[in-house]
Amino acid sequence: MTATSTRSKQDVIRPDKDRFLREENPFEEMMSRFDFAAKQLDLEPGLYKILRHPEKQIIVSVPVQRDNGEVDVYTGYRVLYNTSRGPAKGGIRFDLQVTLDEVKALAAWMTWKCAVVNIPFGGAKGGVICDPSSMSNAELEKLTRRYTSAIIETLGPDSDVPAPDVNTNERVMAWVMDTYSMHKRHTVTAVVTGKPIEMGGSLGRREATGRGCTVVTKEALKHLGMPIKGTRVAVQGFGNVGSIAAQLMAKEGMTIVAVSDKSGGSYNPKGLDLQDVLKHTQSKKLLNAYKNADHITNEELLTLDCDVLVPAALENVVTDENAAQIKAKIICEGANGPTTAAADKILNEKGIFVIPDILANAGGVTVSYFEWVQDRGGYFWDEETVNQRLERIMVRSFDEVTAMARRHKLDNRIGAYMLAIDRVAAVHRLRGMYA
Ligand code: NAD
Repeated sequence: MTATSTRSKQDVIRPDKDRFLREENPFEEMMSRFDFAAKQLDLEPGLYKILRHPEKQIIVSVPVQRDNGEVDVYTGYRVLYNTSRGPAKGGIRFDLQVTLDEVKALAAWMTWKCAVVNIPFGGAKGGVICDPSSMSNAELEKLTRRYTSAIIETLGPDSDVPAPDVNTNERVMAWVMDTYSMHKRHTVTAVVTGKPIEMGGSLGRREATGRGCTVVTKEALKHLGMPIKGTRVAVQGFGNVGSIAAQLMAKEGMTIVAVSDKSGGSYNPKGLDLQDVLKHTQSKKLLNAYKNADHITNEELLTLDCDVLVPAALENVVTDENAAQIKAKIICEGANGPTTAAADKILNEKGIFVIPDILANAGGVTVSYFEWVQDRGGYFWDEETVNQRLERIMVRSFDEVTAMARRHKLDNRIGAYMLAIDRVAAVHRLRGMYA
């Protein structure tokens, strides 16, 4: 079977690879924020050094016999950045652009995100340098299983729990779970999250990130004394995060004035008919073909006259070039890294209330945590319970981030990093250094 003939069967693999590759690339910006926050906390120099280094970096060779009989050998990585607070948590990506440095930085990002929402996980990331678009399903399965067995000593519900990332999905997670379980000689569902519901996935996981964004946006509105009903919201990105956030915010009485995808945006100052927009996009059509609203560009969407802006597509979209024109009073960062450090400064000067990514989009990893808890307990919650518990964690985290920011007279982003670093550092101090 050739790669081309099997490609159509690969609907299991993310079609949004390019965006996901770009999504978490502003690592240096992230670490510069880490440095600033660490300085504010007056972190001991030794602890600072520890937290700037990954705990463990694994490099493996992954041989795969291709469908044509030839053998290719791929390089795979798994980095456990910090596990002081619990098992490492973080996705596995399959892509040609995977590098060890990238995996390291993404693992650090996961460490801070889990600490902000105070879930008992450390941070990790994994990747294999490969081009999944040129591989058949059978080859991808072999690659996944061989990579899993190569890093099997680190994996485990108590040590390292992967999830989907660029070019991997619930199908791949099912193979990881099966491979691990075959080695252990019994079924271990809690070794990965983002699994299909039938084999231990959690209800509410698909909606979790958009739901988390909605919860923290409501909190921000309350915090600023603004009404929820009638609040005008513009959402960039109408995928998993953006479309769910838009629907849930509309359900709360907010008015969604604009949404966009990679083709551009749809705008109606009186509010879009979201069900009509969804009907259009569900038939795989892009928003530039949507007729029942005005067309705008993605750039125009960012500077619309609205109360809340939700960048939920890409990184680095709010920059020093457009930040001064932003009219929203609240920015809820559904995407990872949508705001540059230079833009942060301008937004602060303008008094815009930013809900930073490591808080705003942490609903996803929070429900991954719930999935792990349910798998370990062997007792599955109904969707209402998942959503209530998610809301509780998001509200609490919002309060803690804003309290930290207020106490130090700094912005919410630095407040979130300070909260995260402080939590990780506290555990290091208590545990001491094993020598
Ligand atoms: P998705 O692929 O489901 O949707 C992405 C959306 O962005 C699509 O509507 C796409 O058309 C749009 N888009 C792509 N390029 C664009 C461009 N140039 N301009 C405007 N829009 C563009 O992805 P998603 O899962 O919704 O993730 C979106 C963001 O949220 C990413 O930054 C991701 O890392 C972050 N995030 C997602 C989750 C999750 O649980 N899905 C969790 C945490 C963070």
